[in-house]
Amino acid sequence: MGCTQVSRMLPVIDLAPAPPARAAYDVLAPAPELAEFATDDIALPRFHVWTLGCQMNHSDSEEMAGALAAAGCAEAADLESADLIVINSCAIREAAEQKVIGRMGHLANLRRANPALRVVLTGCSVRTDNAATLKRRYPEVDLFLRPDEEPELTARLGLAGATAPGLMVGAQREVGAQREVGAQREVGAQREVCAIRRQSATSAWLPIIYGCDKTCTYCIVPFSRGPERSRPFDEVVDEARSLAARGYREVTLLGQNVNSYGHDLPAEARFGEVQTGRHLGRQLDLDGRPDMAALLRTIDGLRTDDGVPAISRLRFVTSHPWDLSQRLIAAMADCPSVCEHLHLPVQSGDDTVLRRMGRQYSVAAYLELVERLRAAVPGISLTTDVIVGFCGETEAQFEQTLELLRQVRFETVFAAAFSVRPGTPAAKLEDDVPKAEKKRRLQALLDLQEGIGLEANRGWVGRSTEVLVDQERPPSTHADGYGGPRLAGRNRSNKLVHFDGPVELIGSLVSVRVEHAGPYALVGSLDG
Ligand code: SAM
Ligand code: SF4
Repeated sequence: MGCTQVSRMLPVIDLAPAPPARAAYDVLAPAPELAEFATDDIALPRFHVWTLGCQMNHSDSEEMAGALAAAGCAEAADLESADLIVINSCAIREAAEQKVIGRMGHLANLRRANPALRVVLTGCSVRTDNAATLKRRYPEVDLFLRPDEEPELTARLGLAGATAPGLMVGAQREVGAQREVGAQREVGAQREVCAIRRQSATSAWLPIIYGCDKTCTYCIVPFSRGPERSRPFDEVVDEARSLAARGYREVTLLGQNVNSYGHDLPAEARFGEVQTGRHLGRQLDLDGRPDMAALLRTIDGLRTDDGVPAISRLRFVTSHPWDLSQRLIAAMADCPSVCEHLHLPVQSGDDTVLRRMGRQYSVAAYLELVERLRAAVPGISLTTDVIVGFCGETEAQFEQTLELLRQVRFETVFAAAFSVRPGTPAAKLEDDVPKAEKKRRLQALLDLQEGIGLEANRGWVGRSTEVLVDQERPPSTHADGYGGPRLAGRNRSNKLVHFDGPVELIGSLVSVRVEHAGPYALVGSLDG
């Protein structure tokens, strides 16, 4: 499906990563790049963004924080010291929504102490279909913004005034053309970003596709984030180039289903070799349009003067198995910057459950994909998502999931008990696995996976591995007074590695010799 692209290539300003949080009532200064534009601190609210949920939310929050900073607002270290609280919510499970609902009393207290306080709720809890109930569920919220309305944040708050540098420099990011969603015009197809306040100076998120066209029956995301809108190819590549120029070592391409990137972009002669139209299940004409494989190859092709990839590590998340093409697998194998790791959510190891979930693949098809991935990228690390206790899941069907875990031996499994999401197709099915049974299944799965993860991690002991150092760890309290390894980072397989070293190493790639393995992380020493 094609659509006209309306894209203006204007710069995206990257602000310095936010300084570490300070004590309550401490106000963080606006980014130095924007100092000349800073307006009176007293007149503008100090903001705090509270982010829940997935990487896409974290990326969106960086954009909202950037827009607020570009409008001249200072960042407050916590909710208590803010005049403007932006809550970027997650609705994937009821428990995530309850976290925010449970804070309403605290927000009411903060408002009593500071009558000027304003609270904005955005993220997946804000949808068109639940608009009527929002004020009742979130009584302390002043402004509700759907995820596609987030670019309007400063304007809706009256902060995008004439002195706001974001507007003055006109830096914008527009994605896709405006598309009709039902009878309503969807603003989200057009995203305007003044600035991005990135949390890390080492690793950057790079959104490439918004929304989701899948119809997984349990999932709220297609309702909250709307249909898929791919960002124009050249715009993504330009942003990757600019991240490389600013020293980012790692870039993660983001989307709910990055593997379907490009299907909604216009066909172009330069993508003539893309012949991956899908005629099985959902009909998709992808021929001649950019795809993930072309995007990976082009970003990998950005090189330094020495001919090495300008971005050392390229990752992408999340991948729906149905859209994982052989072209993409080949690109992963060929591109030196693409990390040897893939997060490939399977959700269940039983065909009947997968069908009921609307996942569009069978266990056999998934296993065949795993085989092809492992053949193309030897040693690739695979991680996955699983839902236990989905409607109608029998003990035998759950056992099939355990069997799949034993067979594939994922490095990490993100598992959760099924949580009914009102408005999704699964809400019409009977949620017949009792809560206690869901809990038991979840624990059984986690116990099994802990053993598998530990065994996989033990395979690293005695080997040296390249780690991108990205954090200084808080000291732990060992009986002997040793605070534990000071630094941590991830290797190309996405394994967390702890080791000792000077903090100046943060942001660099180092070689670490692994000495100990736990189920969730490795511990080692700097090589040499
Ligand atoms: N787009 C990704 C994919 O293809 O699966 C996942 C996105 S979703 C934000 C992350 C995970 O949340 C899913 O993989 C699924 O395991 C879990 N999830 C989604 N809806 C859920 C629900 N109603 N109950 C429990 N877990 C859920
Ligand atoms: Fe939800 Fe499925 Fe889309 Fe993932 S692919 S966001 S699980 S609907």
